[in-house]
Amino acid sequence: MSSTIGQVIRCKAAVAWEAGKPLVIEEVEVAPPQKMEVRVKIHFTSLCHTDVYFWEAKGQNPLFPRILGHEAGGVVESVGEGVTDLAPGDHVLPVFTGECKECAHCKSEESNMCDLLRINTDRGVMIHDGKSRFSINGKPIFHFVGTSTFSEYTVVHVGCLAKINPLAPLDKVCVVSCGISTGLGATLNVAKPKKGSSVAVFGLGAVGLAAAEGARIAGASRIIGVDLNSNRFEIAKKFGVTEFVNPKDYNKPVQEVIAEMTNGGVDRSVECTGHIDAMISAFECVHDGWGVAVLVGVPHKDAVFKTSPLNFLNEKTLKGTFYGNYKPRSDIPAVVEQYMNKELELEKFLTHEVPFSEINKAFDLMLKGEGLRCIIRMDA
Ligand code: NAD
Ligand code: ZN
Repeated sequence: MSSTIGQVIRCKAAVAWEAGKPLVIEEVEVAPPQKMEVRVKIHFTSLCHTDVYFWEAKGQNPLFPRILGHEAGGVVESVGEGVTDLAPGDHVLPVFTGECKECAHCKSEESNMCDLLRINTDRGVMIHDGKSRFSINGKPIFHFVGTSTFSEYTVVHVGCLAKINPLAPLDKVCVVSCGISTGLGATLNVAKPKKGSSVAVFGLGAVGLAAAEGARIAGASRIIGVDLNSNRFEIAKKFGVTEFVNPKDYNKPVQEVIAEMTNGGVDRSVECTGHIDAMISAFECVHDGWGVAVLVGVPHKDAVFKTSPLNFLNEKTLKGTFYGNYKPRSDIPAVVEQYMNKELELEKFLTHEVPFSEINKAFDLMLKGEGLRCIIRMDA
């Protein structure tokens, strides 16, 4: 391994050359890590909706050619100048947002929105010198959210790497990088349901099911899943969801249906759809006096949240969260430990697996809405 330190590495990467066109496995050159950077050998990566949105580039700024990918597990190959808390051989999860440990957000116990390393989807280069570490015959290939995990080797800012237990299986814990932590943290860190309480989860995709998993871990006694797609209900049972509501089955607002089911409202709700009407329902369906609603979904840019201020006077609380309020370096290693302690069940999220050479199949599955997470094996 030591022979590659300081050298350019030639390896395979799946390059998105154009919006919506299948990725192409190419041989790329990966430059050595510069100041505060780490070069990581990716062992497993998985596909999340955000990769698909930026690959389709409908409504996002198109930036191509680019190496996508942001949920992954890997091993440190080498570190750049100034990196002291990671060394070759360490097991890491790259994260699309970061923790510099020096800014006001990183110093605050209440925030995970690092000034330096917060997600920037328009940046396709490294912060240190504004350049890409990937190239093909000298032509630079852009990075994606600081991670670009659809490559056998990638270069990541040290602040965007969570150092995890080396005994944790990377083919399972790679999904902790993004979606699962977002939903899990929304419930455990922000909604904070008490044991025996009731929780409504709006949207039963991977993020919503991770929110339900959080409610199960917290000991909620009723977990009400709300989705417009009734096919989601069968799989949601595995995640501890006890009751299901499809808003299409009623001719009154779903918040009224939930209030009737729960004697006035749920104790907590977590919205994981990205749709404004679901966000409003998720807020209005919580109990007055103590109910807390947490918004996770990313809305349309023109969406406006409209509700009566009386809901606030009646002591319903509305919150939102970014990445489940987890700080990537400080908190994510403990999420991996929750899996190692068998508290967090990751296997039920892992529905498919493909070799790296067939990465486009993972995109097809997601576009068809099949399964939750498809693991991509880099060595195959
Ligand atoms: P997904 O598309 O797999 O699941 C969304 C589910 O919501 C679907 O099953 C859909 O049928 C359902 N749905 C849509 N509209 C609905 C409505 N009005 N009422 C009830 N159900 C409805 O998506 P996902 O990957 O699970 O992600 C969920 C959301 O979380 C997305 O908006 C995503 O952008 C967001 N997200 C946020 C963060 C963050 O840090 N805040 C991080 C990652 C993802
Ligand atoms: Zn910071």
